[in-house]
This record gives sequence, structure tokens and C-alpha cells, in this order.
Amino acid sequence: MRNEALLAPSQLAPACEAGPEGEVIPFDVASAKALAVAAPVSRRERLSIFEATGRILSATVRSAIDLPPFDNSAMDGYAVRSADLQGSGPWVLKVGQRVAAGETAHGVAQPGGVAVRILTGAPIPKGFDSVLMQERCERRDDHIIVTDAPRVGQNIRRAGEDIESGQVAAETGAELTPQLLALLAGQGRAYVDVIGKVRVGILSTGNELRDPGEALGSGQIYNSNRIAIRAALARCAWADVIDFGIVRDRRDLLVDAIGEAAGKCDALITTGGASAGEEDHVAAAITACGGELDVLKVAMRPGKPVKIGFVGSTLLAALPGNPNAAFVTFRQIAFPALRAMAGLASPKLEWHPGVAGFSYEKRLGHTEFVPVEVVGSDNCGRPVLSMLGKGSSASLRAMSLAQGIARLPPGTPSVSPGDSLQFDRIA
Ligand code: AMP
Ligand code: MG
Repeated sequence: MRNEALLAPSQLAPACEAGPEGEVIPFDVASAKALAVAAPVSRRERLSIFEATGRILSATVRSAIDLPPFDNSAMDGYAVRSADLQGSGPWVLKVGQRVAAGETAHGVAQPGGVAVRILTGAPIPKGFDSVLMQERCERRDDHIIVTDAPRVGQNIRRAGEDIESGQVAAETGAELTPQLLALLAGQGRAYVDVIGKVRVGILSTGNELRDPGEALGSGQIYNSNRIAIRAALARCAWADVIDFGIVRDRRDLLVDAIGEAAGKCDALITTGGASAGEEDHVAAAITACGGELDVLKVAMRPGKPVKIGFVGSTLLAALPGNPNAAFVTFRQIAFPALRAMAGLASPKLEWHPGVAGFSYEKRLGHTEFVPVEVVGSDNCGRPVLSMLGKGSSASLRAMSLAQGIARLPPGTPSVSPGDSLQFDRIA
């Protein structure tokens, strides 16, 4: 057998060439491939707005009414006709009717200097064109004294000024955030049409794995990937997790579990057993289930053995078992693909500008992802990032403390303090 340690570096396979287990492709290519094959699920649901938080709109919503529906007062004060307050003040106006929110104003303003006591949200009585703030008027019994000439339209919220009837309120693929739901509720919508939830299977493989709460035997470790991925998906109202628990490192058992998952899920995320070692059976099990793998190895660290493919119409993301590698590949490759399946119009992660507050030697040709915390800001206001941990793909602690994951591009040989970085906020 060849001993690779005895070979000169020039004799080893460079980062982006085919190796015995398939081609190593750049991270950007792998993540683009995963996104490209992730089609939105075809199921649709109609939900009460009270059940729709975080779900994704399946159709463009146009405003059903003008918002606000009628001209109304933005202040507690007095509605006046600006024509009554010409020339130079002060002016004395008699106060007529009083209109509060929810009430209807009666009659039409007549010339002659009558003001209407009006409260915030009350409809503007016909013929009035300005509202004076009560703080700017002096009240004397049933009169007010006004010193500032009013502007036409002041303190009046016009019908339709927020959004007009028929105008697009939200596009297909929008996430129903609390603020978007508020807009739809403001138009009287009780129901929304949304894309069905993505059924995401999760499966951990490894003979050494025990779940928290169980006793650890010799050589065993606790399964931390299961909760990491479940918890990440628990934040996504558009995902329904189907948990297949722990499967032993046996090809036949994995074939059964992956076959079952493919029948029940839109996507399946496995962790562990994704490399090419003798205890790694996930790729073989996927193939034995009739599946295909588009991505076999990625020039990224951590996470090189990540695999992406399909079994039938179920998207398969086979992630490596090391917790950091599982988390990074889930977040960077699988998660945007799942967001695309959920129908989100912008499924990609958002990258934030930052500046390095650390030094790091990285491997040329690989995209590296390092856990970072924000330790201050530079004089341009960019967050200064400090790297956590020592870059081990098995570390749980560094990621638990991280506020973000910085992405170090393949062409970067090293990072020095002051270098511009991009990071993905995870906390
Ligand atoms: P594997 O990808 O199966 O070669 O596993 C790589 C490393 O990750 C090994 O040290 C495993 O024990 C560990 N590992 C695998 N799965 C998990 C898991 N679900 N939780 C924590 N560690 C894991
Ligand atoms: Mg394993």
C-alpha cells in the first residue's frame, strides 16, 4: 500500500482534481448545484393568518382595500378648513362636533370658522382639510385660538397612502414575518395561501452514537448532530422534521432507512458515514436505493466529504459526522437548498461584511469556514471578528460560542488582522 506521508506534496492530488472517490468541486459550484436542484414543494395550503407565521406565500397578494380605508386624523386636535384661516392670525374658531376613532363625522363643513374636535384615527369630516395639533391650539370654553396658519393636509392620513387597493402587498415566495402579517391583517385578510411544509428527514449514523439521556459505554459518544439540525429546523415554520434517529454503520440498515425516508420526505439529511472509509456506508446505501449523487466531495473545510444527490424525488444531503463539519455543511449547503424547496424567493444566506481581528494560515484552494465572534468595530463601523477555537471540525464549544461563520475564499492563503471578511450571522 502507498504511504501518502512519504510522498512529496507535488505528488499528492491537488484540491480540485478527480480522486479515487470522485471529483472535488469548489464550494461555490457545490452550493449552486444544491440550490439548482432544489425545487419548491408543490403542495399548497390555505391557513388562518394566526397559523401562518414564518410560512411562505404561494401567490402574490394584492391589497383588497385602500389602507388606510378613509382619510383620518394622525393626531388628537382640531379639524379646520384652511380657507377659514387666511391672512394673519390669531384666529378664533368655534368648536362644533367631536369625532373619535370608530365614530362617523356628520354633515359637511360650512364656511364660517367652525373647528371639529377630532381624535387620532377618527375620520376627517367632509370639507375639512387640515388638523391642528391640540398642543398648538388654546382652548377657551367652546372656542379655540389658533396662531399658526395650517397647511392643507397636515396631520391627515390619506386613504390609500400606505397601500392602495390592487397594489402588490407581497410577492410569491415572501416569508410571512410578523410585520408582513400585520400588513395583510390591516387589509382584512383572515387567510393566506402558502406553500406546503418541506418534510425534512434527519438521520444520524454511527455505531458509537448514543442519545443524550442514555448511558455512555466504552468508546461511545453522544449524538449532538441530531439536535443541532433538528433545532436549526425547529426555527423554520416551513419545515416538518421527520426524525429517523440513529442507524448503525451497516449498509443494509442504511438502505432500509434511506428507502423509507425517501418515501416519506422531500429531503433527507444524514450525518456520519459520508466519507470513503470502511465504516462509511451512506453513499453506497444511496446508490443501492437507486439514488444518484451529483456532489461527492467539496473543496471546503470543514466538510469535504459532503454529498448531495437524490433518491427518487427526495433530495439527499449526506453530511460528515464531525459536529462542526455537519453544522457548516448543513448551514452552507443543505439549508439554502431547503429554503429553496420551501419556496423562499431569496433562499441564499446573507453575507455580512466584517474585518479580521485574527491571523490564520489556511489551505489554498479550499473555502474555509471558521466560527467567529464580534469583538468590536473598526473605524468604518464594520464588525471586528475574532476566530474561535483552533479550527477542529470536531469542536462543539467554538461553534456554541460563535455569533457567525466567516467564509475564507479558496484563493486566500492566509488571514491577517485588518483583512476584509464576509460572515454569516448564526446568532
Ligand atoms: P464519520 O463522518 O462517520 O466518519 O464521523 C466523523 C466523526 O464524527 C467521528 O469522530 C464520529 O464519532 C463523529 N460523529 C459522527 N456522527 C456524530 C453525531 N451524530 N454526533 C456527534 N459526533 C458524531
Ligand atoms: Mg462514522
